[in-house]
Amino acid sequence: MNFPTLKKWLFICVLLVGVFGLGGCGENIDNDLRVRKVKGAVESALSPGYGTCGRCGRPWNRVEEHTTWFQEDPSEPSSKNDSDLTIFVLDMGCFPLCEECWGELTPKERLPYYRELFNEWTLEAIRDGYEAPPKKQWESIRAAVLAGK
Ligand SMILES: [Zn+2]
Repeated sequence: MNFPTLKKWLFICVLLVGVFGLGGCGENIDNDLRVRKVKGAVESALSPGYGTCGRCGRPWNRVEEHTTWFQEDPSEPSSKNDSDLTIFVLDMGCFPLCEECWGELTPKERLPYYRELFNEWTLEAIRDGYEAPPKKQWESIRAAVLAGK
């Protein structure tokens, strides 16, 4: 094998590694997420008015959201043993992540996405002249997320 041929093969090898990645055929979450982020950018541009997943950016008309329920006011007695109607009235749900992203992260890794959503609520409340959500509400969300909800 002369030098130019070797160089050509080396170039093809580098190209293949670049295209398929060193991970081979195994499942690669990062690659998958990259594809979903590209999808998210296109889909959210086509879905004005829809909220999006805080991680992949896919809009809620295209992906299922993961709803985390928490007690709106943790100083109230727990509504867990009450009827469904009471749970609906006393508890609140939020969904910063889609089911897929939620499933790929540990509770600790999910936390920043919830914090970002809570910060958004606070900014929106201030902007619209409402009372900002109380700090204890964040504690309630934090506890629910760390409990794997
Ligand atoms: Zn997502």
